[in-house]
Amino acid sequence: MKSKTEKNITENKCLRRRNLKERILKKLKSFFFGEYRIRRIVIKSDVIKTIMEFAKHNHPKEFVAFLGGKMRNDSLEIDKLLYQRFYSSSDSAYFRIEIPINEKFFGTVHNHPNNSNTPSSEDSFLFGKYGLIHLIISYPYSQEDIAGYDFKGHRIYFEIKDKKIKSKNKENI
Ligand SMILES: [Zn+2]
Repeated sequence: MKSKTEKNITENKCLRRRNLKERILKKLKSFFFGEYRIRRIVIKSDVIKTIMEFAKHNHPKEFVAFLGGKMRNDSLEIDKLLYQRFYSSSDSAYFRIEIPINEKFFGTVHNHPNNSNTPSSEDSFLFGKYGLIHLIISYPYSQEDIAGYDFKGHRIYFEIKDKKIKSKNKENI
């Protein structure tokens, strides 16, 4: 049995490790959404086109891809999709998520085979864990069926080329 002091040391170590992880995550998030706020999110139109095609191709199954891009001053530009190996089903595409470690990724995109682009409870978990911005495209997978969310699941808006689009939320219509 561990002495009280040993137990306290182990507990303190765990606590410190957890605090460090939280601090790093907080710093990263404040970098993007705090002092150095992203003012614009621009998604290349061919990325949008690929998302629409990929969703149609995979329907009624779900797919997940990562959003690759770069920061240009205070704009985040999403210019490519980073694919990963995954096993998808019509229920969920989240088995075996593999983060592309060699690429800079800023978030995720996945499809909903039904006609709601509102995040599910699993999505909220995914959003908090993998990146900062997230897209959901719902059936029938047109440009207007794409909705953007931040890591907390709050709605965010993005631009495609020079055109500002406000994607509709079907649940609220
Ligand atoms: Zn989802």
